[in-house]
Amino acid sequence: MPALSAATRFSLDGRVALVTGASRGIGWGIAEALAEAGATVVLNGRDAATLDERKAALDGRGFPCDTAVFDVTDEGQVRAGIGGVLSRRGRLDILIANAGIHHGAPLAQTTSSDWRRVMAANLDACFTLAREASLPMVAQRHGRIVFTGSLMAIMGRATIHAYAASKAGVASLARTLGAELGEHGVTCNAIAPGYIETDMTSRFREDAATFERIARRVPARRWGTPRDVAGLAVFLAGDAGAYINGQQIVVDGGLSITPF
Ligand code: NDP
Repeated sequence: MPALSAATRFSLDGRVALVTGASRGIGWGIAEALAEAGATVVLNGRDAATLDERKAALDGRGFPCDTAVFDVTDEGQVRAGIGGVLSRRGRLDILIANAGIHHGAPLAQTTSSDWRRVMAANLDACFTLAREASLPMVAQRHGRIVFTGSLMAIMGRATIHAYAASKAGVASLARTLGAELGEHGVTCNAIAPGYIETDMTSRFREDAATFERIARRVPARRWGTPRDVAGLAVFLAGDAGAYINGQQIVVDGGLSITPF
């Protein structure tokens, strides 16, 4: 078989991608980038009106896309949502399990229900989404599963117990799924972003001193944007990333390699 050109190896033409948490932030950045690379993108979130606006933006650029309104913490909705992608588009090649929530509070004020809510959205959902997506992927002998993890999977910070533990679980889940699904042509990896400018981090950015302090700690001397994360998602989703499996890859402008 002749070797594919670099452009072909990075192209997502003909691929169908489901992106959870695509209504804003990192998920929307990834969805736009996948569409630009040629994929048909299915935008997930819980708010139909926002997703319709996002769909209109992609429609306006001539990119094929659908919306799939469901809550990733509800197993039945996940199954129905992925079933909907299959019945509309006939296949599912790429799952970007990106939806997530943050919770920060001192240990004594973190309730069990806070803990479970974060685990359900950030870790349990990755498990159910990956399981349901893997069924058509294994059958078609091709698939890419990409989780949005976090730098906090490998770094510690006070008050984010459930969040950090959930993201460490995501990295571990990527490894075990990579090991199990690799022989079926399916890879599974986690992207671990550093500090990215989205709604999730707005409270850090509202305080100018905190915003500057974090920017100064990053060798790039700036916060990341959703587009900074999206390039890796496109790479992992395509043929160019076919031999990368079970990894957690950090996208943090170099923050994690500096001691202070
Ligand atoms: P945002 O808060 O900006 O966006 C979160 C997205 O997740 C929204 O689209 C939201 O949609 C969706 N979402 C949340 N809960 C659910 C649910 N139960 N079902 C379906 N969709 C849901 O966050 P970010 O873009 O910053 O974060 C995206 C991912 O990146 C998360 O997993 C986060 O942990 C991770 N991350 C973010 C970092 C950052 O600095 N911003 C750093 C490291 C990791 P809606 O509310 O409309 O339903």
